[in-house]
Amino acid sequence: MKTLKHEFIEFVPDVLEEGVLYISVLHCSAIHKCVCGCGNEVVTPISPDDWQLSFNGKSVTLRPSIGNWNFDCKSHYWITNNEIRHASSWEEYQSEFEKKKEIKPKRKWLRLKKRKKK
Ligand SMILES: [Zn+2]
Repeated sequence: MKTLKHEFIEFVPDVLEEGVLYISVLHCSAIHKCVCGCGNEVVTPISPDDWQLSFNGKSVTLRPSIGNWNFDCKSHYWITNNEIRHASSWEEYQSEFEKKKEIKPKRKWLRLKKRKKK
């Protein structure tokens, strides 16, 4: 089972490490590099309408699943207690999304942060 480390941050580092889920409570967002190794950065806003993050003191869980269909790899997976589980089928993935309105990772937040820094 592949795992992620989590790290609570104030500012997004310029270079993201593979296998680390960076969480900014201040900006209500999390960011990590796609777990397939493609190098794409996945931003998951945390809000009642987007992702929900839970932290049990040791590990974090993100819901719903992460669907990177805007990347070439089209990877989709769940992060549960820092463990990555790949969705076994698109059906499984889509049925979870049907319960909520469709949400997808955004890259906007990262761009905003980078612009502010300069
Ligand atoms: Zn990927």
